[in-house]
Amino acid sequence: MQSKVSIIRCQSYCPEEIYAAVKKSVDLIGGIENFLKRGQKVLLKPNLLKEAAPEEAVTTHPEFIRAVIRLVKTQTDNIFIGDSPGGLVKTQSVYKSCGIEKVANEERVQLIQFNSIVKKGNIPFAKIIDEVDVIFSLPKFKTHNLTVITAALKNVFGLIPGLYKVHVHKQAPNFIKFAGELAHIYSLATPQLSIVDAVIAMHGDGPAAGDPYHLGLVVTSSDALSIDAILSKIIGLEPLSVPSTNAAACMKLGQADINNINIAGECLEDIIVKDFNLPKISALFKMPNLLAKSLLRFIPLMMGIDHLKCNGCMACKNICPQGAIKDVRGRLRLDFRRCILCLCCSEMCPNNAIYLWFLNRRKESGR
Ligand code: SF4
Ligand code: SF4
Repeated sequence: MQSKVSIIRCQSYCPEEIYAAVKKSVDLIGGIENFLKRGQKVLLKPNLLKEAAPEEAVTTHPEFIRAVIRLVKTQTDNIFIGDSPGGLVKTQSVYKSCGIEKVANEERVQLIQFNSIVKKGNIPFAKIIDEVDVIFSLPKFKTHNLTVITAALKNVFGLIPGLYKVHVHKQAPNFIKFAGELAHIYSLATPQLSIVDAVIAMHGDGPAAGDPYHLGLVVTSSDALSIDAILSKIIGLEPLSVPSTNAAACMKLGQADINNINIAGECLEDIIVKDFNLPKISALFKMPNLLAKSLLRFIPLMMGIDHLKCNGCMACKNICPQGAIKDVRGRLRLDFRRCILCLCCSEMCPNNAIYLWFLNRRKESGR
């Protein structure tokens, strides 16, 4: 099975430049009319993990979303934008802080909240996915301390409202099982198109505490696996070393073999970068999958709290699906026997005070 991915260079979020890049990227894989008929209802699903300013590279950039809105408007005015941030975070405040609210108001597009659910298989999705004709996924390309990268495939996880996501983490309490669950979720709610904001990506300790990285790319395809495979290659990872790509490839949900991906736009060899900081967890998945699975049983991966950075806001304690974080006389304690390493606490911490102990265990200040 061949798939097609377009890769377009884009240096900034200047409205004219980003619109031209998004349009060219979609044109190269058949044009917007190939994915959206006139008057159809479309859901635009960005990545809005938490409250963050656009320049932090935590969320899909608002000007990127504006560019997609303008392209979509050539076919329809029935446009909705929606995402479910992590855990207990209020969607409205995320919309405001990351600049999406302003863009939606200016473009007269409806921002929605995922208040109702519809079950597909055993997964509770936002009901809107049954009410629209088409879903366009607009991920931010970032590293991820649990899933190695977050791009096209992982973005679909945000179609599950709020705390329901926590239940999924509970059902899949380790890296490999969670990767399988992500592939399953993608199979149940596959977007017609994914357009990835990789202009300013995030490297290092993503998805919330990494650093912005100027990659300067817009990457588009109807096949999320192909996108993730290409992006992995660009940053120096073997595509199948990313657990969710591997799981989805085993389920034949798309094409992860670079040799079977038809790339339009930039030449892959010309855009590979050497200085992209991978998350620590990626070292584990460079090994053959079976070996990684065995090692996961023995390597003492665990969460740590940097008490010097912690301000006691309790966001981590409130989000933890396992009740593994306790407030003991004003000091946080982590119960490692309960922890399922879902990283929800780390994603929500406003001070980057929670980290995964892995390989380069750092000295903790009084755990
Ligand atoms: S979320 Fe971060 S800052 Fe808040 S209590 Fe937890 S570790 Fe401390
Ligand atoms: S302590 Fe953090 S990583 Fe562990 S289960 Fe709770 S939220 Fe998840």
